[in-house]
Amino acid sequence: VPVLTGIRTLYRCLPDGGQGDVHPVPAAALAWREGRVAWVGPEADLPPGWRDEPREDAGGAIVVPGLVDCHTHLAFGGWRADEFERRILGATYLDIARAGGGIRATVARTRAASTEALVARCERHLREMVALGVTAVEAKSGYGLSVEHELRLLEVYDRLRARTPLRLVATLLGAHAVPPEFDGRSDAYADLVAEAMVPAAAARGLAAFCDVFVEEGAFTVAQARRVLRAGLAHGLRPRLHADQLSAGGGAELAAEVGAASADHLEHVGPRGIAALAAAGVVAVSLPLASLYLGQPPLPARRLIEAGVPVAVATDFNPGSAPSCHLPLALTLACTLQRMTPAEALKGATVFAARAAGLEAEAGSLAPGRPADFAVLEAESVEQWLYHFRANACLRTVVAGREAWRRPVSV
Ligand SMILES: [Zn+2]
Repeated sequence: VPVLTGIRTLYRCLPDGGQGDVHPVPAAALAWREGRVAWVGPEADLPPGWRDEPREDAGGAIVVPGLVDCHTHLAFGGWRADEFERRILGATYLDIARAGGGIRATVARTRAASTEALVARCERHLREMVALGVTAVEAKSGYGLSVEHELRLLEVYDRLRARTPLRLVATLLGAHAVPPEFDGRSDAYADLVAEAMVPAAAARGLAAFCDVFVEEGAFTVAQARRVLRAGLAHGLRPRLHADQLSAGGGAELAAEVGAASADHLEHVGPRGIAALAAAGVVAVSLPLASLYLGQPPLPARRLIEAGVPVAVATDFNPGSAPSCHLPLALTLACTLQRMTPAEALKGATVFAARAAGLEAEAGSLAPGRPADFAVLEAESVEQWLYHFRANACLRTVVAGREAWRRPVSV
């Protein structure tokens, strides 16, 4: 059906305007052709040529651009429910990591999993995401931590492209943690990432981004700079896990290397915020991680006031954010980060697309752009994120093709 009418409000989420400008069109219609938006506006203004096309009535639902989950660790083996319980009983993230749990536990399970099993698991998660209205996903490696295993995870993402309607962007996160083979030799491991992993991933066209976890117990600013500069030299754009557990200069480094985004930022300070604003770096907030770790969230209001675009993503991973429910993350962005529903929506559409390098393909609804959208059973974006439900999505469309529709209940 190339025309959708009966839309209570369509949110275009254009790149211009501030965090809360989502460009709503009340009583809207949307037309698309060959996978791209042909017309969008008030239904009363629908051009005569479109009135004779087959149309579907949205029944007063709202329409938003397909949601973009711009930060996930999609491919991993096993889960870590045991650590969930230990954290509840008082262990910290660093306590667990020092005891051999955390990322290292997942690395062992991921290395042991077959490629076919990893592809099948990812495919299941992607199906859950598309049913929630998500149409584009950034997926990081980072649970292989050797040249062979990191490339294998990127290959998993490459193989998934033929098995999912979603747009998938891959990021090399070889510098996620120091693997056991390099205990006490983090410099040597950072060199391996910069000198072997980055060139190999780039030569095979397996990644668009290079990411580093800058944190005490992970990688220093100097090590991250080496890895990210190697990425830049090989055409991989930088992104960073920055200032999650402590303010470690990650935000400043993101600005220095011209990163597409700085992610986490729970502990970012005034200097980091100013640097992000000056360099035009997107701040990616991950409120599910704040929720699960019981941490104060990133200072979204201070970032927005400084002019930093704030994206919202799930951080889907088996430790600190074991959920790929992006609408839940958006509700938490409202309640924990004090973002309005409109600000959260902009953060999961156009600003998330910018963080994931998808600004030309996703995040906005306008003529000529891909017809990626979600039809949501809600009166408004405010109603959608306020009345949290298992799933309010009625239908997900990617490039004009239906990727998911809510089954008719009997
Ligand atoms: Zn992450």
